[in-house]
Amino acid sequence: MDDRGMLIVLSGPSGVGKGTVLKAFLKAHPQFRSSISATTRAPREGERNGVNYYFYSQEEFYQLVSEGGMLEYAIYNGNCYGTPKRFVEEALQRGEDVILEIEVKGAAQVRAACPDACFIFIIPPDFHQLAERLRGRGTEDAEAIVKRLAAAKDELLRASQYDYIIVNDRVEAAADRLYTVIEAARYASKNQKHLIDEVLKDA
Ligand code: 5GP
Repeated sequence: MDDRGMLIVLSGPSGVGKGTVLKAFLKAHPQFRSSISATTRAPREGERNGVNYYFYSQEEFYQLVSEGGMLEYAIYNGNCYGTPKRFVEEALQRGEDVILEIEVKGAAQVRAACPDACFIFIIPPDFHQLAERLRGRGTEDAEAIVKRLAAAKDELLRASQYDYIIVNDRVEAAADRLYTVIEAARYASKNQKHLIDEVLKDA
């Protein structure tokens, strides 16, 4: 019997509201674990070290990379972002399902390392809403917003490489859809091989 938890990768362009969807999802389904990433970007107002991210210097970040301590990492908008391996591995071993909220280059590395993971992409109802949300958030200057929108376009072009796509038209509805696709992925044949082996054992 395979008791390992399921690894779930959630991506989507900056400003699509994936953090908000994930928060609503975790509130409704607290049995899921979400990984806390490491980043070299400066904390935004209200963000706390060890809660939103582990805020590392470049040296600290690359030290962990060189020790083989990152499951994946990528540079996004000039800053490093990565998933510390240890928490994810230990939680999966305990049979807990773990969600990574990461960008597309990191997700591709996870696909190579963990092909059984479930890959989900969140898209906005239209591009205009994405731009409005980024401007409305007020956390970035105009130049950073232009960069994030260009990155968003690149990311959207890779959405079809994911197993599932969810539209975030309303947070609660998107969180419900997220749960539906994760539960469906649990029964995907690629995740059920051990069951077939079990049945065939006595055949
Ligand atoms: P933000 O600066 O807005 O918090 O995040 C920028 C982007 O980095 C988002 O698309 C977010 O999903 C992604 N990101 C956050 N943590 C990680 C991580 O550990 N690895 C990778 N590859 N991307 C991450």
